[in-house]
Amino acid sequence: MKHLEILKSPVEVSLNDFRMKGEPVIDQQRSIKDIAGIFLDQEAVKLILPETLVYTVQSWLPVAEGTPGGLFFGTSTIMPGKVGNEFFMTKGHFHARSDRAEFYWGVQGKGMLILMDRNRKTWAEEVYPGSLHCIGSEIAHRLANTGDENLIVGACWPSDAGHDYEEIALNGFSARLMEVDGNPKLI
Ligand code: ZN
Repeated sequence: MKHLEILKSPVEVSLNDFRMKGEPVIDQQRSIKDIAGIFLDQEAVKLILPETLVYTVQSWLPVAEGTPGGLFFGTSTIMPGKVGNEFFMTKGHFHARSDRAEFYWGVQGKGMLILMDRNRKTWAEEVYPGSLHCIGSEIAHRLANTGDENLIVGACWPSDAGHDYEEIALNGFSARLMEVDGNPKLI
């Protein structure tokens, strides 16, 4: 930009559906076939069409991944649904630089932010429109949709945080969010 120039930001976010548009925005989609292994009930997985969408992620990375001092912005949309009695959820991750924190905030729908520390203590925070969540360093995080509409969540994290999906892929969380007598419960 030039001195004294007045511009529009290259990316905007709709306040209706929280979709981002502009350049550059990265779109990712995760279907049952991509993440089948994260669910407990593998027989129930087989009853769901492999192409069934579980969640989408949009991200705006204004600087290169790994740049110290920058920020990334993202939105996650988790579809309503269950595998057996387990709610549709994201893969979940620690940060690769695990001393990096992150903000999440609820935009639409109803769900849980499932959190686990390095001692494998697991707990959750309720997510709803307006809920605000500060995810501390060394805390793994994943979202689950417990409602019957899309769960939309915004996120902002440091550009050098990175993602460590490996630890969760190998060892999972120490508890799962299941529906028990009509209510979400960590088991
Ligand atoms: Zn994160």
